[in-house]
Amino acid sequence: MAGCLFCRIIAGEIPASKVYEDDTLVAFNDINPQAPMHVLIVPRVHVASLNDLGPEHDALAGAMIRRAAAIAGDRGFAARGFRTVFNCNAEAGQTVFHVHLHVLGGRPMGWPPG
Ligand code: 5GP
Ligand code: ZN
Repeated sequence: MAGCLFCRIIAGEIPASKVYEDDTLVAFNDINPQAPMHVLIVPRVHVASLNDLGPEHDALAGAMIRRAAAIAGDRGFAARGFRTVFNCNAEAGQTVFHVHLHVLGGRPMGWPPG
């Protein structure tokens, strides 16, 4: 989608520190990490937010979640623990309107989240 930051990263127009990619997903390090591991998992297809996911995206959503666990596991956080977050719209703090899953690990996480 024209003007979408994450579509531009996926297209290679804006550099990012990619950690994984396949036919449907790209994962890269967050530019402003909130934990020692802070990876963003984004679908190649432009979907603005969780509100816009339909049943046609069920496999994609599952792949994003399973990829989060795989990346965390590769970094040794499976047993220790990690946090996954989808922010949806303004009150949750979504700032980039291309759906993405935050994967954070490497420090204790508070609950409830702020
Ligand atoms: P949101 O607030 O929408 O849930 O998360 C957006 C995330 O994208 C933020 O954590 C922010 O640091 C990250 N971000 C914003 N711009 C860029 C960028 O140009 N490159 C990368 N790698 N991450 C970005
Ligand atoms: Zn996009």
